[in-house]
Amino acid sequence: MHFISTRGCSEKIKGSKAIVNGLCSDGGLYVPTEFPNLEDRLNKFIGLTYKELCLEILKLFLDDFTEEELKSCINKAYNDKFDTKLIAPTKKINNHYFLELYHGPTCAFKDMALTLMPHLLEKSLKKNKIKEEIVILTATSGDTGKAALEGFKNLDQIKIIVFFPEDGVSNIQKLQMRTQEGNNTYVVSINGNFDDAQSGVKNIFNDEEFNKLLLKNNYILSSANSINIGRLLPQVVYYFYSYLNLVKDKHIKLGDKINFVVPTGNFGNILAAYYSKLMGLPVNKLICASNENNVLYDFFDTGKYDRNRVLHLTTSPSMDILISSNLERLLFEVTKRNYNKVNSLINDLNNKGFYEIDNNMRFNLNTFHGEFATQYEIKENINKVFKENNYLIDTHTCVAYTAYEKYRKNNFEDIATVIVSTASPYKFSKDVLSSLDKNIENLDEFHVLENLSLETNTNIPLPIKNLKTAKILHNRNCEKYELKKEIENILKV
Ligand SMILES: *Cc1c(COP(=O)(O)O)cnc(C)c1O
Repeated sequence: MHFISTRGCSEKIKGSKAIVNGLCSDGGLYVPTEFPNLEDRLNKFIGLTYKELCLEILKLFLDDFTEEELKSCINKAYNDKFDTKLIAPTKKINNHYFLELYHGPTCAFKDMALTLMPHLLEKSLKKNKIKEEIVILTATSGDTGKAALEGFKNLDQIKIIVFFPEDGVSNIQKLQMRTQEGNNTYVVSINGNFDDAQSGVKNIFNDEEFNKLLLKNNYILSSANSINIGRLLPQVVYYFYSYLNLVKDKHIKLGDKINFVVPTGNFGNILAAYYSKLMGLPVNKLICASNENNVLYDFFDTGKYDRNRVLHLTTSPSMDILISSNLERLLFEVTKRNYNKVNSLINDLNNKGFYEIDNNMRFNLNTFHGEFATQYEIKENINKVFKENNYLIDTHTCVAYTAYEKYRKNNFEDIATVIVSTASPYKFSKDVLSSLDKNIENLDEFHVLENLSLETNTNIPLPIKNLKTAKILHNRNCEKYELKKEIENILKV
């Protein structure tokens, strides 16, 4: 198994090197040279624990790690940091299944990969005899930042700098980041939106001179964003796990096809679902759920990806994105791995702000179906789901729920469908509580949490509860064109 670029440059490297590099030298994203097919082995996987299944899947891609090494990383990741032994339980609520990915240390799905990837990186540095210190640069729309800080804190030979949009994340998310502990963690808010943060970080990765300066000072940049293959691979695991649990619990028979509905931003999570299909998991449709930033909905509907529009700040901020970076990996697959085509599409996106795909590619996208949810629908449906089922979902999960309700109206099929739940409702407690028709005016964050808990008879997750007494440790702020200066200050170069 090797990893190659979506844009075709000649490097062909092993997994550990791809994890260290993050981004390819031609600006493309690393993809595996092939997808191992597990269809005939699914029956053997029924009943495996999350950790056991994770090992079975990862060792196929990361074959330059020994099994012992992988096991050690997996054990450090999926332990009692998670508040359920199952790690990623699939729950049946009425006629829906919810795959809960928010039981980790920061209460959102980014934990699924970011508890593991830092340990893979630490091992990868040793394997590749890297002597320099690695600086993880991350642009976050909220959840990645905290999950990455938590995953990388106090690791050897690694520093982490997180940029977040000052007005584009929830107050709880902000508090989570600003109270981050660790001797190697740095948090900077920028005056701009998530795309400013993300393109700012991308420009720094592509800035040769700056990278040379850093190297002279013994630093190498890497990314923890979902473009790193070390983030993507662990996400494949829970799609298999969820499917196998449905089989084990006799909700479906082995071989039955199922749908997944994924609340989507940067397209990492749903791409992992697609990879699982390419690996033989019986997937019928992948329903790509967007909020009012519905660029992906338009893309699946018309074949045109057009980022020329305003970014809306919504109640599901982790999905407030106009450029879904991981979509490039999907383009690579649906062009049948034609990197010339990928290059030309990405050039169009960079130069004109849009691209259009041909009919062949559109046909190859037929696993996907796009839907989107408005702010009003999200509010209504959080209320409805709670009233009808006594089950509380967050705003992002509700985007997926709403998308599925819309899909069902036009598609009469008897296919089990798993709604991917990406955050604890307590992470977006203000919007969740006000969806339940409660007046939140004049309530501070912590009163909102307490009211939500009383109102719904559910517990505030500990990592959020503990924020109340945590100390603010980070106060950095910069303009959107000042990221480089901020990094220079932090690293003293
Ligand atoms: C990051 C995130 C998403 C979007 O996931 P992508 O992989 O970026 O598409 C959805 N919901 C929550 C809560 C998130 O943190």
